Amino acid sequence: MKHLSYFGVIAVAAGTMIALSARSTSQTDEATRTLAHDIFKQLIEINTTDSVGNVTTAAQAMAQRLLDAGFPAADITVIGPNDRKRNLVARYRGHPHSKKKPILIIGHLDVVEARREDWTTDPFEFVEKDGYYYGRGTQDMKVSDAIAVTDFIRMKHEGFVPDRDIILALTADEEGGKSNGVDWLLKNHRELIDAEFALNPDSGGVVTDHGKPLSMEFEATEKLYADFQVAATNPGGHSSLPKPDNAIYHVVDALAKLERAPFPFELNDVTRGYFTQMAATQTGQTAADMRAILANPPDPAAVDRLSQDARYNSTLRTTCVATMMNAGHAPNALPQRAEANVNCRIFPGHSQEEIRLDLVKLFDDSKLTVRYVSDSKEVFEHGSDRQAMVPPPLNPEVMNALRSVTAKIWPGIPVFPEMETGASDSIYTMMAGIPSYGICGIALDRDDVRAHGKDERVPVQSFYTGVEFYYEFLKKLTTRS
Ligand SMILES: [Zn+2]
Repeated sequence: MKHLSYFGVIAVAAGTMIALSARSTSQTDEATRTLAHDIFKQLIEINTTDSVGNVTTAAQAMAQRLLDAGFPAADITVIGPNDRKRNLVARYRGHPHSKKKPILIIGHLDVVEARREDWTTDPFEFVEKDGYYYGRGTQDMKVSDAIAVTDFIRMKHEGFVPDRDIILALTADEEGGKSNGVDWLLKNHRELIDAEFALNPDSGGVVTDHGKPLSMEFEATEKLYADFQVAATNPGGHSSLPKPDNAIYHVVDALAKLERAPFPFELNDVTRGYFTQMAATQTGQTAADMRAILANPPDPAAVDRLSQDARYNSTLRTTCVATMMNAGHAPNALPQRAEANVNCRIFPGHSQEEIRLDLVKLFDDSKLTVRYVSDSKEVFEHGSDRQAMVPPPLNPEVMNALRSVTAKIWPGIPVFPEMETGASDSIYTMMAGIPSYGICGIALDRDDVRAHGKDERVPVQSFYTGVEFYYEFLKKLTTRS
């Protein structure tokens, strides 16, 4: 195979892309299609929300599928901290004399809440309509869980023996809740999921425009999440006698400073690669600006212009934004307390505590407290010193397999790294020292991202092509050459 450089991609100008439609669906045999369909439907129809759902039911259903397909019971574990939040860990045994450490695939089984009255269809019913599958989790991310289970069974039926173990962990509480499965497994049963690297199809994928494939993006790093409570307290008093020292004004002044003071522009290997490749797909001022921020020194005017776009802005720096406020206790009383939630998405290399101290310095107001709020809503004086990991080096085996299978299924599209601006379970595996890559074979239109939203859906063809993609990708990764 032709050697490609670190971020080497075949950057193809948009105008020269021809004959790009995915062509592999027809290669999926009927039995695999039926199996994939049935598993996907089963997963969508098991409610796994934190409020009333049950992740264990989904984990057990997938465990049963694997047992029925001939996986030994000793290699299938359903385990977790409580009855509703058990995780499935399945080990596909590789060659017994392999010296290679396993590959881990992680996928969350839980889904974001969805109300029937908000949706056109029942979110917990698997509905095929107008060329799409509808249901909560059809994008995020039961689609990929179904694909992984299908491909495990398919490879098993073929008698395929990978050159190392492949571990599949389908887990709880990525979207919320107190029992994050990846975190729990790493802390309590690391031996079950320890691996050389992890693949997490919760991010990345093929971006299409009206069905036309534009690029294969994969996540190579992600930002760190943190909430901060900015609060002021005051003795208050009668509102007919206002004083300059007012809890609401203290908080509002701080937020106004935050609005006007963006965090500094930064680049790392991943975002450098992202903008390098993205520039090749853009034209005019945007393309020029992307090149200008990569120059040494970077052009500040170009940084400012790109920062007008929310996605680029979030890729260029740490962001902190006010998301909630609560203040006062009566219309005719001076406020005794005002508080705001500031949500930060921290650029790799910085810690929560470092950003908290940045906020304290920016606000420069001794009447304010700035405290860290944990995922379970506990308030702490300090944030953690743990940092969003600096991106791990791109594993050449993973990159070669990704490029080769992408070129086969979507010929001619560039493959490029991205920094996930949200957060996924990869943050846990990365912090545990397991390099993690967000690789997904689902093609979605860039204006049809409905994860967490109403009428979540995936094109039927994308699903079956995704089945094909992971099957080929895993085999490519684990076949001795
Ligand atoms: Zn997700």
